[in-house]
Amino acid sequence: MKVGKEQIHNLPLNPVTNLGAYAQQLQKAAEEQGIYLPPPVRLQIGEPSFRTPEHIRQAAIESIQQETLTYGPPAGWSWLRELIAAKLVRVNGYHVSPENIAVAVGGTGAIQAILLGTVGVGDEVLLPDPGWPHYRLQIANTGATAVPYPLDPDHDWLPDVERLKPLVTPRTRLIIINTPGNPTGAVFPPELVHELLAFARQHDLYLLSDECYDEMVFEGQHRSPASYLTPKEFENGNLLCVYTFSKTYAMTGWRVGYLVTSKELIKTIATVLDASTTNVSTLSQRAAAAALTGPQDCVHEMRAIYQRRRDLAVTLLTQAGRYLYTPHGAFYLLIEVSGPNGPRAGRQFSQELLRETNIAVAPGSSFGEGTQGYIRVSLSASDEEIERGISEICAFANRQ
Ligand code: PLP
Repeated sequence: MKVGKEQIHNLPLNPVTNLGAYAQQLQKAAEEQGIYLPPPVRLQIGEPSFRTPEHIRQAAIESIQQETLTYGPPAGWSWLRELIAAKLVRVNGYHVSPENIAVAVGGTGAIQAILLGTVGVGDEVLLPDPGWPHYRLQIANTGATAVPYPLDPDHDWLPDVERLKPLVTPRTRLIIINTPGNPTGAVFPPELVHELLAFARQHDLYLLSDECYDEMVFEGQHRSPASYLTPKEFENGNLLCVYTFSKTYAMTGWRVGYLVTSKELIKTIATVLDASTTNVSTLSQRAAAAALTGPQDCVHEMRAIYQRRRDLAVTLLTQAGRYLYTPHGAFYLLIEVSGPNGPRAGRQFSQELLRETNIAVAPGSSFGEGTQGYIRVSLSASDEEIERGISEICAFANRQ
C-alpha cells in the first residue's frame, strides 16, 4: 500500500482532533438514546471568539464589487506591504522596507514557506516544548528533524539558553521561538529575546521568531528580536519574524499573515510562496489593509476582554488551589491536572472531562512531551463558559 512520505504519514493525529471525534461519538450515542446533549463548552479552541470588525468586512465587500480580482504578486500587493512596514514601526519598533516583507496564507503559510525555503532532509530544527502543534507537522513536511527544547514551568515557561546549547549539533539550521507563546501565554522579557538572538547568531542559525500574538500582551512588553539589529545586520538574513492578522483582528478565516526578513531571503521565500499558493487572495489583502488603516479600538477592546477573562481564570484557579502562573499574553492558560493519587495524563483527563461534564479542553500532549500532565484552556470562550469550565475542571481533578 502506498502511503506517501512516511515521515508525514506516521505523525500522530493531534489529540485535539481526536477529542473532536470523541465529542461527535458522544453526541451520536446520546441521540440514539433520545437524549439531548448540548454542544460541549468549547475551551479547547485556538481562535478569537469575536467576529471580524465591520469596517474590515466592508472593505472585502467593496473589493468584490469593484476589483477584477486577478492573480497578484507572490509576496503580496505593494500597497499592503507598505502598510505593514508602517505597522512594524508603530507596533514592533523597527524599520524595514516593503521589499523585506512577504504576505502569506496566515502565519501558518509564512512559517511553512520559511521552513521550506531554509531547511530540508538531514537538517535539525529546534522548537519549543510545549509549542504550537503545527511546528512539528511543518518541519516534517520539509523532511528536516524536529528537536524540542524545554520551556520551564518553574521559570514562567521561559526557555533557558544554557539548556539550548547542548542541543546544537553540526546539523542544526534553525531555531523557532514564540513570544507571546501558545500554549503558555508567556511573554519573553526583552533581555531574553536579546540573548536568544545572540545565541542564534553565535551558532549561525536562522532564528524564526513567531510573533503572531504580538498585540495580545497584558503586562510587560513584547520585544521583537528585529528591534535589536542594525539595518545591515538585518540584511544578513538570519532573522525571520512572523505575524498574522488572525489573532489581532479576529480574522482567522481570512488567512492573511506575513513574514519579515532580509531582501535576499525574501527572494527565496517568495519563490516558495509562488510555487505553493501563487498569492493570497486580493480580497483578503484588501481586508487586511482596512484592518491596518482603520480604527484600532477593536484591538484594544478585544485585548481588554481577554485580559478580563485571564483575570477571572486566575482568580478561580487560585480559589481552587490550582494556581500555577499568570499568562501575560496570548489567550491560553495551562492547568496542571494531577489528582489525589498523583500525576495523570492530560489526554485521559480531557476525554473523561468531556464525557462526564461536556467540557472540551486541549490535552497538554498536543503541545509536546513536557506537558503530558496538563490541559490547555482557551480564553476565547465567554465569561460564563470560563467560570463553569474552570470550576468543573478543578472539581473533577480533585475528585479523581
Ligand atoms: N503561531 C502560533 C503560535 C499560533 O498559535 C498560530 C495559530 O494558532 C499561528 C502561528 C498561525 O495562525 P494563522 O495561520 O491563523 O495566522
